[in-house]
Amino acid sequence: MTHDSASLYVRHQAVLPSWLGLFYERPLELTHGEGRHVWDAEGNRYLDFFGGILTTMTAHALPEVTRAVAEQAGRIIHTSTQYLSRPMVELAERIAALSGIPDARVFFTTSGTEANDAALLLATAYRGSNQVLAMRNSYHGRSFSAIGVTGNTSWSPTSLSPLQTLYVHGGVRGRGPFAELDDGAYTAACVADLEDMLQQTAGGVAALIAEPVQGVGGFTAPPDGLYAAFREVLTRHGILWISDEVQTGWGRTGDHFWGWQAHAGNGPPDLLTFAKGIGNGMSIGGVVARAEVMNALPANSISTFGGSPVTMAAGLANLTYLLEHDLPGNARRVGGLLIERLRAVSAGLDVVREVRGRGLMIGIELVRPGTGEPSPEAAALVLETARERGLLVGKGGLGGATLRIAPPMSLTVAEAEEGADLLADALRTAQQRWAAA
Ligand code: PMP
Repeated sequence: MTHDSASLYVRHQAVLPSWLGLFYERPLELTHGEGRHVWDAEGNRYLDFFGGILTTMTAHALPEVTRAVAEQAGRIIHTSTQYLSRPMVELAERIAALSGIPDARVFFTTSGTEANDAALLLATAYRGSNQVLAMRNSYHGRSFSAIGVTGNTSWSPTSLSPLQTLYVHGGVRGRGPFAELDDGAYTAACVADLEDMLQQTAGGVAALIAEPVQGVGGFTAPPDGLYAAFREVLTRHGILWISDEVQTGWGRTGDHFWGWQAHAGNGPPDLLTFAKGIGNGMSIGGVVARAEVMNALPANSISTFGGSPVTMAAGLANLTYLLEHDLPGNARRVGGLLIERLRAVSAGLDVVREVRGRGLMIGIELVRPGTGEPSPEAAALVLETARERGLLVGKGGLGGATLRIAPPMSLTVAEAEEGADLLADALRTAQQRWAAA
């Protein structure tokens, strides 16, 4: 770390909350980016395989987005929803059309947390109940209600909540009685568990909120068919489905534009939340719901920053670029190659339990060789080593033992190969370290 970054770190610790976690022993200060690369304050260049937790959807410093932001900022930045806004209406129209939800309405927020908060508010208002279902190991944000549906307890700092939440099986299998079941038996067991739970709620449940692929949870997806089976049960009980697409949206998983589409037999959700990538780093979140649900709130409301013209201009330019360059198709093709290469390079490394994923959302779960125990130590070591080699990746999963790979969706084949080789090197280093220990 340069003197500058070192002293910035001291100032950070002195003035920001202790729980605002930083990656890396020597925290990184990123100063600029271009394409799939970023630079730190020392002038080191990194291939970015995490895109600021999937916020850089297309590319760093994409000229189309930069231009749109500058032009809008030069015209008017003034924001708040009591006046008509052309960029907001245009982006809402495009997202409504893409959402798959009939008669869709869009409400813009400034983050994924706030989007989920709004979705929970709408669902509970619509159904007249504050009882909700969420998945074990889930992550939905850091507001009071988003924490209240976050099953991953290391991200859920208080058990107090405005919601009454019941957690259902179907996320990561963990080590319990479900761990050894095959996909079919696991699905049947989860559905039976859900039915059993609903027997005890006397019809009071408003909604289930779920990530199609658990993001912070380590890029784990339930078996195909599980969500469709859940859906059938929930529909029978009139319970709404909230699909949290904050990580899975915009074609990141390659085969589908939204994560919910990857679950065969599943129709569009009642509510869909989005954030992260759409603004390419500008703060846009939102919720889509059919009019009947969206308009369930009895009182008036106004948002000052949700849908601000500058962020909407970024979103429009970014979405246009994504679609015109078929980046979802690129995520499928390059992501497919990347996952194959990562599987090939990690074959024979006992520290790797599994390489899994879809499109450009790839998880590598690390274990303590010989024991099969999740190894956050190995993940931390690989993260540091990769950084030294010039590659940024993320981590998550149970105890932080899964490496998370989600580069900007314009990743090239050459960059995928380069990143996989750098990561292979870091994984081998971790393996050797274990062997020597
Ligand atoms: N939902 C999911 C699935 C997420 O991964 C995140 C962020 N990691 C959020 C919601 C919260 O989004 P934000 O950080 O923009 O508040």
